[in-house]
Amino acid sequence: MRETEATTEARRAMEVCNACRYCEGFCAVFPAMTMRREFSTGDLSYIANLCHNCKGCYYACQYAPPHPFNINVPQVLAQVRADTYEEYAWPGPLAGLFRRNGTVVSLVSAAGIALVLLLTMALVDHRVLYQPQTGPGAFYRVIPWWLMTALAGGTFLFSILALAMGFRNFWRDTGGRADELTRGRPLAVALHDILTLKNLGGGGGGCNDRDEAFSQARRRFHHAMFYGFLLCFASTSTATVYDHFLGMEAPYAFLSLPVQLGFWGGIGMVVGTAGLIWTKIVSDPAPAARNLLGADYALLVLLLLAASTGLLLLALRDTGAMGVLLAVHLGIILALFLVIPYSKMVHGVYRSAALLRHALERHPTPPPPGTAPSDRALGSAA
Ligand code: SF4
Ligand code: SF4
Repeated sequence: MRETEATTEARRAMEVCNACRYCEGFCAVFPAMTMRREFSTGDLSYIANLCHNCKGCYYACQYAPPHPFNINVPQVLAQVRADTYEEYAWPGPLAGLFRRNGTVVSLVSAAGIALVLLLTMALVDHRVLYQPQTGPGAFYRVIPWWLMTALAGGTFLFSILALAMGFRNFWRDTGGRADELTRGRPLAVALHDILTLKNLGGGGGGCNDRDEAFSQARRRFHHAMFYGFLLCFASTSTATVYDHFLGMEAPYAFLSLPVQLGFWGGIGMVVGTAGLIWTKIVSDPAPAARNLLGADYALLVLLLLAASTGLLLLALRDTGAMGVLLAVHLGIILALFLVIPYSKMVHGVYRSAALLRHALERHPTPPPPGTAPSDRALGSAA
């Protein structure tokens, strides 16, 4: 990774923290920091993505502003994270999209909705768009199956590929090897930390969501959004199996598995994203990286729109509003898949990779059997 203003400032902060070590028990960042005496840009990339932005170390720090040392760890690590998103983006020429993220998300969303509406109007009798459609195959009478599959499937596969390439770039730059990715115990530890958001626990009582008071609100809203997203994904996957392997065409009954997964997933996403937006609005701006807030809000609003238009479509699917709502919902999903690799969503990939690297550091590969103790010491020093 290249040296930037943020990495230089983060290195200075880490050197002060390494001498102080007051926050050692707060999160994974400080134990990872104490394992190093010098910080390469790859180390700073790893440490920045290990930070969950709980802000606990800012309120605990005796060197935070107005102290002349001006230590603001959450803010500087957020800046480094933003640099890493751009650095590891794939394909490289699209990395610049991170710089105007709010604008990009708005434009892609508008273009996605317009594209699906225009294609729908061009391909089907426009009266179908405004007339109630019911029974098996009702959605495909509005948007042909092949168009829905091509738009959603194509953008989804592109998104997965771009995220996988970003992961590879991060892993290599932070010193990772391919064979480390298959070690069972560190993988299990990292998975536990990812699924429980352990590092949002701060010093034990939760995050400093709004100010120096501890709270679990951000962690709970993030859980609601994350598991809601997974349920929506499970809903789409189940519906695909129903359609392609069981010959059952959507729309399905309200109590069917795909609709129940989508309904509760949608509720979780609405509650989670609305809660996270509220948390950002009321929080103390001092430890935040203000120049990144626009991108954060843009993504949360896009996720909120994806979930709320899905729920609205479910509520009004037997009425004449279904056609337009389906086109708008599909347009937003299309935009979401396209911007995922160039939005804050990538933090999920890099933070997970950083947690795996941290688990590997805590559970190093045992030396080969028969290695003499002195050789082991030399091996670990090397
Ligand atoms: S954030 Fe402040 S108190 Fe915490 S380890 Fe760093 S310098 Fe020390
Ligand atoms: S903000 Fe929280 S997660 Fe980040 S370094 Fe400070 S204590 Fe750790």
